[in-house]
Amino acid sequence: MEVEESMLERDIMVIGGGPGGYVAAIRVAQLDGKVALIEKEELGGTCLNWGCIPTKALLRGVEILDLIEGGKDYGVLAGPVTVDFAKLLARKDRAVKTLVGGVSGLMKSNGIEVIKGAARLVSPQKIEVVNAKGEKEIYQARKVILASGSVSAEIPIPGAKLPGVIDSYGALALQQIPQSMVIVGAGPIGLEFGTVYAALGAKVTVLEMLPQVLPTEDPEIAAALEKTLRRFKIQTFTGARVQNITEGTEGKLEVTAAVGGEEKVFPTQYVLMAVGRKPNVEGLGLKEAGIEFSEKGIEVNDRMETNVPGVYAIGDVTGKWLLAHYASAQGEVAAKNSLGHEMQMDERVVPRCVYTLPEVASVGLTEERAKDEGYGVKVGRFPFAANGKATILGERNGMVKIVADAKYGEILGVHILGPHATDLIGEAVVGMRLEGTTSDIGHAIHPHPTLTEAMMEAAFDVEGTAVHIPPRLSSVRRP
Ligand SMILES: Cc1cc2nc3c(=O)[nH]c(=O)nc-3n(C[C@H](O)[C@H](O)[C@H](O)COP(=O)(O)OP(=O)(O)OC[C@H]3O[C@@H](n4cnc5c(N)ncnc54)[C@H](O)[C@@H]3O)c2cc1C
Repeated sequence: MEVEESMLERDIMVIGGGPGGYVAAIRVAQLDGKVALIEKEELGGTCLNWGCIPTKALLRGVEILDLIEGGKDYGVLAGPVTVDFAKLLARKDRAVKTLVGGVSGLMKSNGIEVIKGAARLVSPQKIEVVNAKGEKEIYQARKVILASGSVSAEIPIPGAKLPGVIDSYGALALQQIPQSMVIVGAGPIGLEFGTVYAALGAKVTVLEMLPQVLPTEDPEIAAALEKTLRRFKIQTFTGARVQNITEGTEGKLEVTAAVGGEEKVFPTQYVLMAVGRKPNVEGLGLKEAGIEFSEKGIEVNDRMETNVPGVYAIGDVTGKWLLAHYASAQGEVAAKNSLGHEMQMDERVVPRCVYTLPEVASVGLTEERAKDEGYGVKVGRFPFAANGKATILGERNGMVKIVADAKYGEILGVHILGPHATDLIGEAVVGMRLEGTTSDIGHAIHPHPTLTEAMMEAAFDVEGTAVHIPPRLSSVRRP
């Protein structure tokens, strides 16, 4: 195949059109850089096409179902409620299409050239692109930003390749509501799909090897979430090591796991492997270009520079926080530095969200981690059961927990389980970024009746002065 060498040199070429890559490209364009973005599949990457957006569109469907079913408590009576799964899928696809179209429009309006094809570094400044027809072209760039994302991780257990064993892509491709699903891994992806399919009527069992669901989150929040998942009859087993998957009877699979020293067998229609993601470094030409990487991802410093001058890496492929907003933030840092501006990544304040019903959101350190890091720690909590708006909504499960530095009251971490937790965490993000204290949050007048009052009250509770809980429920024991 003839290789054509493109004469046109771009300032910056971005490989990958996910929330890391497309945001980086827009930032470069805003700074008057000449930029091209190479994408082998769809603009928007995993986030828009196979991740954040489609899963949340499905979750919105089950949230509406839940609301309708809860209507009777409010005297709103509906007839028998059924789910047209095909319509729910179509609604999800429409949301994806709208947002992918939006990114495409942004590329055009910012004058960003989009090149369709799979990119490979031939050298640090030369990129070979193979399009869908197999045609190759070589592009030159002064600087390159790698944003190739991640792919589903696998665990090497017997039976992992059997039909019916799926990953998150497979879970989004199901055309019918499954009867049953065993989910291996109780991280955000596993629990979100678990919520969707359990709420739609599947028998869902979650097996987690570590001692708690959401293993990296605050144990108190994780334990409370585990309880609330029972609302959808989701069965969770922690400390469960999956050993193998075999074909069982009646077309079912059987998952064998060691649970607390006992061997248990779980028959199921589908097995969803939700055991994490790994950086997508295959076929990128990293070795040829001399770029250092490990199985954790491409190594970068806080300016998003790799070891090779002029080559930057951002997003999931760097293997840090595998989150869309983190990828975008890294994208901005890479864009600015690549054009000679100076910016460093602020790693301290990265929010993490889980869109279960109710939601989980957190930012900063857990109580344990703060203690391990040598902080004197004070904690405040406020239950949604004592919040007016949560009571109005009929969503009284969960709490806001604030971890603060005992000396100055600086907020070190905020952990929320409850309604709209993923929206509420924004206040904590801004507060922490401004190095705010519990006094700053507590004394900021919050509107009533809103869920945000729970944040204010949790901040007061750090000093034992929350108004709407009796002293015996305060985190601060008074003498
Ligand atoms: C089921 C699921 C749910 C998720 N939910 C959330 C959520 O709610 N919130 C959140 O913050 N995060 C969520 N994530 C994670 C989020 O999707 C990722 O963190 C985010 O997409 C990473 O962005 P990125 O730009 O680094 O990579 P990606 O979005 O993966 O984009 C990489 C792009 O690069 C392209 N590409 C790869 N190699 C090449 C090549 N050689 N040439 C050309 N193009 C290439 C790919 O086709 C892809 O489009 C979820 C992930 C999954 C799987």
